[in-house]
Amino acid sequence: MADTVKLFYEDTHMSEFEATVLSCQPDGDTYKVVLDRTAFFPEGGGQYGDIGCLNEVKVIDTKEKAGVVYHRTTAPLNEGELVQGKVDWEVRFERMQQHSAEHIISGIVHERFGYENVGFHLGEDYCTMDFNGPITKEELKEIEIEANEAVFKDLDILTLTPSREELKDMTYRSKIEIEGQVRIIYIPGYDTCACCAPHLTKTGEIGLIKLVDMANYKGGVRINMFSGRRALRDYIAKQDNAKAIGSMLCAKENEIAATVEKMKDEQIAMKGKIMELEQQLLKFKAQTIDVTADIVSVFDAGLSGNGPREMMNILLERGAKVCAVFAGTDEEGYRYVIGSRSEDVRPISKTLNAQFNGRGGGKPEMVQGSLKGSKNAIEEALK
Ligand SMILES: [Zn+2]
Repeated sequence: MADTVKLFYEDTHMSEFEATVLSCQPDGDTYKVVLDRTAFFPEGGGQYGDIGCLNEVKVIDTKEKAGVVYHRTTAPLNEGELVQGKVDWEVRFERMQQHSAEHIISGIVHERFGYENVGFHLGEDYCTMDFNGPITKEELKEIEIEANEAVFKDLDILTLTPSREELKDMTYRSKIEIEGQVRIIYIPGYDTCACCAPHLTKTGEIGLIKLVDMANYKGGVRINMFSGRRALRDYIAKQDNAKAIGSMLCAKENEIAATVEKMKDEQIAMKGKIMELEQQLLKFKAQTIDVTADIVSVFDAGLSGNGPREMMNILLERGAKVCAVFAGTDEEGYRYVIGSRSEDVRPISKTLNAQFNGRGGGKPEMVQGSLKGSKNAIEEALK
C-alpha cells in the first residue's frame, strides 16, 4: 500500500481535512481505516496517536506501520468514500504544548550538563523526562526560569529536512537511528533535535512551563512537567487547595507552610502536656481504688502505653495482694497486665486466655496479654 500523505507535517495546526477511504478492515470489535491523506498524527516520539472523528465515526487511536497510517475507528467506513476528518484539537494542542516544552527543557539540560534525554513519556495526565545525570533542586529552578524565557521570546519552532550530506555536518540530539528523511526540530538558541512528531510553530503557544517534580531515577533524574493548559489547570487546583487550607488555618495563602509548622510545634507541646496530665490522673485514680480484695481488678478505657503497668505497680505498692489491670473496652477487647509480690500469677493468665480467646504470659510475678470478653464475665472468672 502507498504511503499515507501526512498533512500534519505540511501544517501542524491542521485540525480538519478531507480524504478518501482506501481500506477498512475489522480488527476485534474496532476497525482499521486507511486514508489517502491524513492530519491524524500516529503515535511516535513519545507522543500518543491522535483521536477525533471521520464523518460521524469516532477515531480512538492512530498508529503508523511502514509509512501507512491506520485510524482505529469504532464503526466501519466504505472504501472509496470521501470523509471529513476532524482531529480532537484540544487533546492534540495540549500534547504539542507538552512536547514542544520538552524540547526546550532537554535542549537546555543538554547544553548545560551534556546529559541526554533517555526517556520521554507524554501521558494523559503527566509528562515525564528522564536524564542520565544528576540535577540539583536549585539547578532545576534555574532550568525552569530559562525555559520560560524561551517562551516569552516567542521564538519560531522550525522543522528542517536536511539531506544526508547536510545532516553529517549538523550537531543535533537524537535518540535513535532514523531511516528515510530525518526531520530536525530547531528552536534557535535552545534545541536542535531529530523528532517525528508535530510541534507548535511558536514557543509562545506553549504558555507556562512548570517543572513540578523531580526524583532520582536510574542514576539520573526523572522530571515531571506541566505546560500550557495543564500548567494552568494545575495552578487553579493548587490555588484552590491553598485557599481552602488557608481559610481553615485563618492564614494567608503564602503563609500556610509557616502556620502549619507552628501548629505542629504546638501539637508536640500539647502531647507532652496530655501525657503529664494522664500521669497525674493515673496516680489520682490509683489512690481511690480499694485494695483489700483477693484479686484487685481495674477496668479502664483511658489507660494507654505503660499506663496499665504503672497502675498495677501503684496498687501493689499500696498493698494489693494480686492486681489485674485491663485497658480497653468490651467491644474492642482488653490489654491486660497481672502482677503480685507474693503469688504466682501465671495460672490466672492461663485461665483467662483459655476462657476469653486470649494470648500472652510472663513470669511468676507478672504476666501480660490481650483477650476478648465482657468486663462482667472477666470479673466473674477472676473470682
Ligand atoms: Zn519532538
